[in-house]
Amino acid sequence: MFNLILFGPPGSGKGTQSDKLVDKYGLIHLSTGNLLREEISHKTPLGLEAKSFMDKGRLVPDEVVIGMIGTCLDNHKDAKGFLFDGFPRTVAQAQALDKLLELKKTGISAVLALDVGEDELVKRLLNRGKTSGRSDDSDEDVIRKRFSVYKDETTPVADHYKKAKKFQSIKGEGTVDEIFDAVSKVIDKKMK
Ligand code: ADP
Repeated sequence: MFNLILFGPPGSGKGTQSDKLVDKYGLIHLSTGNLLREEISHKTPLGLEAKSFMDKGRLVPDEVVIGMIGTCLDNHKDAKGFLFDGFPRTVAQAQALDKLLELKKTGISAVLALDVGEDELVKRLLNRGKTSGRSDDSDEDVIRKRFSVYKDETTPVADHYKKAKKFQSIKGEGTVDEIFDAVSKVIDKKMK
C-alpha cells in the first residue's frame, strides 16, 4: 500500500491538491474536515457535537475523529492506499493512526507538508469563506484561532514523522499545477 499524509496549516491547499492526487494515484481520500461537514449537513449527533468545536476554530475531540478514520479504513479493505488530508492533527491522532495501519500490516509511506506564509493563508481562507459558506472561514478571529491551534497541537505531529524520517516540506505557493507537479515528483520518487 502507499499511504500519504498531506500536511499543512488551514488554507495551505491540502483539499485542492488531494482531489488531483487521488485521481492520479488511485488513492482513497480521507479528509476529516469533509467527513465532519457531511455529518453536520445530515444533522447527526456527531455532526452537532463537532460543529460546536469547528465554529470556534477548535479541534474536534481525538476519539471522535479517530473513530471516523477507523471506520473508513475498515470500509475500504481493498484500497491500494489512502491519502489522509487534515488528519492526524494531534500526536495522539498520529499514534492511533500508526496503530490502525499496523493492524492492516502497513504504515505511512510519506508525509508531505505544504509550506505557505501566514498572510497568504489568511487571504486564501477569507476568500474561500466568501463562496464556500463555511462559517469557520468567514471570521478572521476564528481563522487566527485555527492557526494558534495548529501551532500548539498540530506542529508536534510534524516532529513525530520527522523522527521516523518520513517528513518532507514542499513550497505551497505558486499555481495549483506548479505545486501539484512538485508534490507528484516527490511521490513518484517514493513509490519507486
Ligand atoms: P482547514 O484545514 O482549512 O482547517 P478542515 O476542513 O481540514 O479545514 O478542518 C475544518 C475544521 O474541522 C477544523 O478547524 C477542526 O475543527 C475540524 N477538524 C478537521 N479535522 C480534524 C482532526 N483531524 N482533528 C480534530 N478536528 C478536526
